[in-house]
Amino acid sequence: AAKSMRGNQYRLYRDNMDEANDKWLLLETKLHQALKKDLLELHYQPKIDLKTDTIIGMEALLRWYDPELGHIPPDRFIPFAEECGLINDIGVWVLGKACAQAKLWNESHNLRLRVAVNISPIHISTSGFVDMVKGVIAGTGIDPHLLEIEITEMSMLDYTEDLINTINQLRALGITISLDDFGTGYSSLNYLKKFPVDVLKIDRAFVRDIVPEKSGIAMISAMISLAHALNLQVVAEGVEEEAELNVLREHGCEYVQGYYFSKPLSVEDFTNLIVQSFTNSSSY
Ligand code: C2E
Ligand code: MG
Ligand code: MG
Ligand code: MG
Repeated sequence: AAKSMRGNQYRLYRDNMDEANDKWLLLETKLHQALKKDLLELHYQPKIDLKTDTIIGMEALLRWYDPELGHIPPDRFIPFAEECGLINDIGVWVLGKACAQAKLWNESHNLRLRVAVNISPIHISTSGFVDMVKGVIAGTGIDPHLLEIEITEMSMLDYTEDLINTINQLRALGITISLDDFGTGYSSLNYLKKFPVDVLKIDRAFVRDIVPEKSGIAMISAMISLAHALNLQVVAEGVEEEAELNVLREHGCEYVQGYYFSKPLSVEDFTNLIVQSFTNSSSY
């Protein structure tokens, strides 16, 4: 009996494995097709300058809607894409799309908005990355000073001379480099010193802690001071409440992003936001 039990368990295990494999394959096929058939979409979330209360740029965020599976959030499919090897193609697509869109908005509204693109640590570590970016700049005609690349703190874990080299080359082109989700990764402050970035993006987890927690305020204030001591600009992510905004302002945070101002918007809605914000010469 013991033997047949084990047999059943094995079969069960194998069935589960097959099922998992099938799901994996289905998702991979679907993501591949979504990319090929232009079914992925970018939404854009404004970044606000707290000194002037105006929009200074926007972050491009991927959206994937599949007719059968529904909306699949990037937090789920980006890690998947990194594992199945689609992430580089996705990165190239996002970069091209976002640069072309930024160029169009800036030209048609006479603006200088900077577009930020999230790039996977895996992708940026690929040889040929800088040449690919140069190609996108040439192809779209975007001013590299209006392009920002966000990389997560995670990538600093396996930071190498090569990665620092790549980042220096990108910066030499005029591209801004941001450290995304700061405070949530595993890096030490020593890495931050060595890592040549321009902007520090404080993760939403810390912004959420601001009010009414006193220690939360101390933490944010210390992070902003640290950034400034290292000559970095600061963006706070995920600002939802006016009270959070006030604390950030008070402590000298330069830029914010969050639902308080706007959710990520479709191209059409972001266009309307630009028109509204910049034609009445009213602040944001
Ligand atoms: P992220 O780069 O840190 O982006 C910020 C996330 O916070 C976005 O989630 C945004 O919609 C959300 N957010 C912004 N303001 C608020 C707020 O006030 N409250 C709350 N609760 N959330 C807010 P999203 O779009 O789901 O993206 C999640 C993550 O997926 C991104 O985190 C980024 O790591 C990754 N991702 C998104 N698009 C891309 C992409 O094109 N390429 C790569 N490699 N990763 C991407
Ligand atoms: Mg980001
Ligand atoms: Mg982030
Ligand atoms: Mg994130």
